Amino acid sequence: MDKVIKDFLAEVSKRNQNEPEFMQAVTEVAETVIPHIVKNNVYYGQNILMRMVEPERVVSFRVAWIDDQEEIQVNRGYRIEMNSAIGPYKGGLRFHPSVNLSVLKFLAFEQIFKNSLTTLPMGGGKGGSDFDPKNRSDTEVMRFCQSFMTELFRHIGPNRDIPAGDIGVGSREIGYMFGQYKRLKNEFTGVLTGKGISWGGSLIRPEATGYGVVYFVQKMMEHNGAGIKGKKVVISGSGNVAQYAAEKTIQLGGKVLTLSDSSGYIYDSEGINEEKLAHLMELKNIKRARISAYVEKYPKAKFFASKTPWEIACEVAIPCATQNELNDKDATLLIKNGCICVGEGANMPSTPGAINQFINHKILYAPGKASNAGGVAVSGLEMAQNSLRYNWSRNEVDAKLQSIMGEIHQSCLDFGKEESFVNYVKGANIAGFVKVADAMLAQGVV
Ligand code: NDP
Repeated sequence: MDKVIKDFLAEVSKRNQNEPEFMQAVTEVAETVIPHIVKNNVYYGQNILMRMVEPERVVSFRVAWIDDQEEIQVNRGYRIEMNSAIGPYKGGLRFHPSVNLSVLKFLAFEQIFKNSLTTLPMGGGKGGSDFDPKNRSDTEVMRFCQSFMTELFRHIGPNRDIPAGDIGVGSREIGYMFGQYKRLKNEFTGVLTGKGISWGGSLIRPEATGYGVVYFVQKMMEHNGAGIKGKKVVISGSGNVAQYAAEKTIQLGGKVLTLSDSSGYIYDSEGINEEKLAHLMELKNIKRARISAYVEKYPKAKFFASKTPWEIACEVAIPCATQNELNDKDATLLIKNGCICVGEGANMPSTPGAINQFINHKILYAPGKASNAGGVAVSGLEMAQNSLRYNWSRNEVDAKLQSIMGEIHQSCLDFGKEESFVNYVKGANIAGFVKVADAMLAQGVV
């Protein structure tokens, strides 16, 4: 078996040189899915995983725009249309200086499995730009978004490819891109998700990824005995996912001790309650301040510059910032300090070394493709509401989100149960794979 996996990875690596993040994501899937393929006559000999790792289409384009000093700036835009076997391409847009082909291909590849797990008919895609919205004025962001969409619009559509937000792309950016798409196409359609409520958005979409990861953590904990109530919870990031993961943790009675951004983390030993979180949201979303500003209002809290929060003792860790933010040393420390559950809000935040630690120590560990699927699931619900020309209530969407997270948890149990332990990595990868692979087989060699 090891040789089959090694040969497969060598072949993929030869074709995708200098793409470490993409190879990391493919390796994790190959190690769990190839044994399943070899055991299953229906997939064996179909070269199905090799077909899945090859994007159906990659678009790369120039984004030229003029900044407030009237200087011409040039960024690079991308859209990776990875797999459309079970529905139109669906996945976020990321605006961050670290964006490159490797990062977007890893995200698009993960998205295939994640979208499959949601039970909704969505294929996998991802896109973005190396544009950094930080320290840019609103008009600069608008000009960039308009230029970006002026090329992207010809590749997307409500039945073809439906982008959403991700790092650096929130409601402001979605609004500017939607406006430009509508102008270019002269059509009001659900081509993007994460829209404002008054113009086609869904209630609970902003909250969905963060709420969903906590619903998933709650499921894992309950399956193991007791829920999140009364537990110490360490969260990284302070963007969209982290904020709503914190909100739902507080609502369910957990004690949130940390939040972070790329400058460092804050530790509030008394717990971040609803009032403190509201202040933090104002700082991050309206004032666009750095996380250290939190301690100016709450001086009992501490700010640790250039550090990650994994050194704080907790029972539950929820990484919600970015890829590879939690390494094997962090994992060792978390386990030593009593952590029993890790639910990923971000995509691929744990390094392979960290994942090995979690699995070897039988920690309840959920990979992002299962635990953060709530965001794209509610994006799928936003698409359904747009097609129906109808809006569901907050409670209706929240109930559907909870039910979907429960179904994803069950799929992980179905494919990942190993005697007294649930291997959620194996469960998520195989459950996500089977649905897409079956659809690809049915549709022939295309
Ligand atoms: P935001 O842009 O809203 O927030 C990102 C947060 O992560 C910020 O606090 C940011 O800090 C921090 N961060 C980003 N890059 C780094 C870095 N290199 N080192 C340390 N901190 C960093 O993004 P989201 O909350 O939307 O996304 C967070 C994660 O969740 C990403 O992995 C994303 O792919 C994933 N995700 C998001 C979904 C969604 O619906 N939004 C859905 C599923 C997954 P700073 O401001 O300093 O950069």
